[in-house]
Amino acid sequence: MIEHIADLQHKIVSGEISATEITLDILRKIKSSDLNCFITVLDAEEQAERIDKMVASGFKGRLAGVPVAIKDNMRYKGFATTCGSKILFGSDDEDCEVVKRLKAEGAIIVGKTNMDEFAMGSSNTTSAYGAVLNPLDKTRVPGGSSGGSAAAVAAGLCRAALGSDTGGSIRQPASYCGVVGLKPTIGSIDGRGMYALSQDMDQIGPITANVDDNKLMFEVTSGKKVDDISCRGIRVGLVGQFDELLTADTRKVVESAKRIFGANDCGLVELDMPSVKAASAVYCILGNAQANINLRGIGTKDERGEKLGAEVKKRIIIGEYALHHPEITEAARKVRDRIKREFEAAFELCDIIISPSAPSTAFEFTADRKRNEIVFSDVFTQPPSIAGLPAISVPCVKASDGLPIGLQIISRYYREDLIFAAAKLIEKSV
Ligand code: GLN
Repeated sequence: MIEHIADLQHKIVSGEISATEITLDILRKIKSSDLNCFITVLDAEEQAERIDKMVASGFKGRLAGVPVAIKDNMRYKGFATTCGSKILFGSDDEDCEVVKRLKAEGAIIVGKTNMDEFAMGSSNTTSAYGAVLNPLDKTRVPGGSSGGSAAAVAAGLCRAALGSDTGGSIRQPASYCGVVGLKPTIGSIDGRGMYALSQDMDQIGPITANVDDNKLMFEVTSGKKVDDISCRGIRVGLVGQFDELLTADTRKVVESAKRIFGANDCGLVELDMPSVKAASAVYCILGNAQANINLRGIGTKDERGEKLGAEVKKRIIIGEYALHHPEITEAARKVRDRIKREFEAAFELCDIIISPSAPSTAFEFTADRKRNEIVFSDVFTQPPSIAGLPAISVPCVKASDGLPIGLQIISRYYREDLIFAAAKLIEKSV
């Protein structure tokens, strides 16, 4: 078990170990790794030297000397932001807002992680910089689109990473790589300086090795303080429409969580939420309509034809179609509102809703399986995304193939405190 970030920070601010030593060790690991987690390695050594000087004169930032990675759709001054695409180049002249916040607490930003092109995908195979391998089994995908971030944390190539999640892009790779990934309440972490996929659903969030680290990263990047609360006796909701989708493996996730919450005096509540079945259609129509608009300013017509990958082109076309058919987007908006209302009604009856984070473990890099599984792999994460609700993936069980599957815990808006409490209970009980 790797030490918690708070313990590492303590060693650094007390002078037991220097930020430079930690950073050089991480840079060596990144160099010798064949997982392809990073698109760009940053000026980490210089940052570490700076932090060491600051620590020597009393600096005690909460992330002092802690190596952190960011997904390559977030800007870092002096380096390129590629979004996993060949179409973007040149270097940025300003850090994005989350980088500013991480730096203010002394984090060392070691690198920019690989991702599906423009955050479109669930397997990291659409990156123009090559696929990322899952550190738990290199024949498997790490998930996506924040696959580089999740794999880097799982492989110890950084202590924490930021990803972005629109329909599942933090929670699903966290589930596949056996780490903790939070999609916070929509709007709760400032997204300025990140490339938008679909701004109604995009949200930056932390990926970490454990729940405490996740909470710390959330506090630093959101600027909010999360109180430690108890989740004893809370009401835990289970969605009937999700139950129909369970396999032997994912049923194990739910059963194990039920046992843990049950032993903690929690009541179980069955929920009927018929509209969640339409979530992926809504996501496809509204998400791609916004993606189409967001990508309009990028590249010339010729460059777009030459440099964008097939998945991105496909989505631009779907988005174009949706935008030209107001009756379709209008219908999708109505269903979106219905999904929101169903969650509102559900949270009258319960405090958290649980489900598997993904319908399977990390799948193999085999074209046929990939196509089917990519489409299906966000089935549990899209509904809360459409409602803008916070949700975490925390490792829960090992499936029959020996690989992890996470438990998704969803709560009301801004109730990250309850999410962390429940996730911590799962973490210490499995
Ligand atoms: N996998 C989903 C998609 O392909 C989600 C992507 C995301 O959340 N950025 O759209």
